[in-house]
Amino acid sequence: MEPTESRTLDAIETAVAEIAAEMQAREDRGEVASYIPELARVSPQQFAISVALRDGRTISGGDWETPFSIQSISKVFTLALALGKVGDNLWRKVGREPSGNPFNSIVQLEHERGRPRNPFINAGAIAVTDMILSGHQPKEALGEILRFLQFVSGDDAISIDRSVAASEKATGFRNAALANYMKSFGIVENPVEHTLGVYFHHCAIAMTTRQLAMAGRYLAFEGRNPDTGHSVISLERARRINALMLTCGHYDGSGEFAYRVGLPGKSGVGGGILAVVPGGASIAVWSPGLDHNGNSKLGRDALELLARRMHWSVFG
Ligand code: GLN
Repeated sequence: MEPTESRTLDAIETAVAEIAAEMQAREDRGEVASYIPELARVSPQQFAISVALRDGRTISGGDWETPFSIQSISKVFTLALALGKVGDNLWRKVGREPSGNPFNSIVQLEHERGRPRNPFINAGAIAVTDMILSGHQPKEALGEILRFLQFVSGDDAISIDRSVAASEKATGFRNAALANYMKSFGIVENPVEHTLGVYFHHCAIAMTTRQLAMAGRYLAFEGRNPDTGHSVISLERARRINALMLTCGHYDGSGEFAYRVGLPGKSGVGGGILAVVPGGASIAVWSPGLDHNGNSKLGRDALELLARRMHWSVFG
């Protein structure tokens, strides 16, 4: 290892340990998501952070061995899969603009005649899931999504938390409304219950921060798996997914996240965030308490501290 590399590694290790200790002691931790009953049962007293580097080394702190529900972070991976399947035709059905609305907003969809603003709000992600499903049985489509996550993280043990999926299905009335509405415009092509079934299950994939940080490495390193050098997606596509994460990855909190953290990031209501330092690292954080936009409160604070200490930013 070069001396500068080992200094960087030392600096990350120290920062990760100090940030984990600080976050574990914080009192104001936000509110856990309550609209999915299984997620309401998760203790907000948890915090985890993992940083994955190009060479596969990971630096972790806090509860990084505890799997959590990745929820909307799965949408980064379904977008990559759907682009691989249908290419730029995807953008005929889904836009690329920040929504300025909550992640489950219905009102905007009517204004825009059933075409979701971007692939990360719920409506857009349901439309993307529908594209992956076309031509397959729901089980096959879900298997493809799960295998993709196992492949990019290099870990076959990743699985779906079926009780979270069932819990969301039982209470997913808003998502059902969005999907039915899009079906009326032909944006959703498959039977609504099949599309929603796949969507609820991919949101219910459970991962540790370490697994998630490893899974995000292709977005940080030119679209490639840095261990093998094999291309997962093209460089251009990786850049574009990062651009969408920066502009739309935190819903109505995307501007604040870009301002405070300065990195592409995608949040989920399970309290996870995946953040990408292009050419530098892939970072996953988790703390179940959310802010009013549905983004992890301590997760964002931790990323802000880490980015500042390491001078990581896409803005120079
Ligand atoms: N499965 C969740 C939902 O559809 C995902 C939302 C999120 O993580 N922001 O409501």
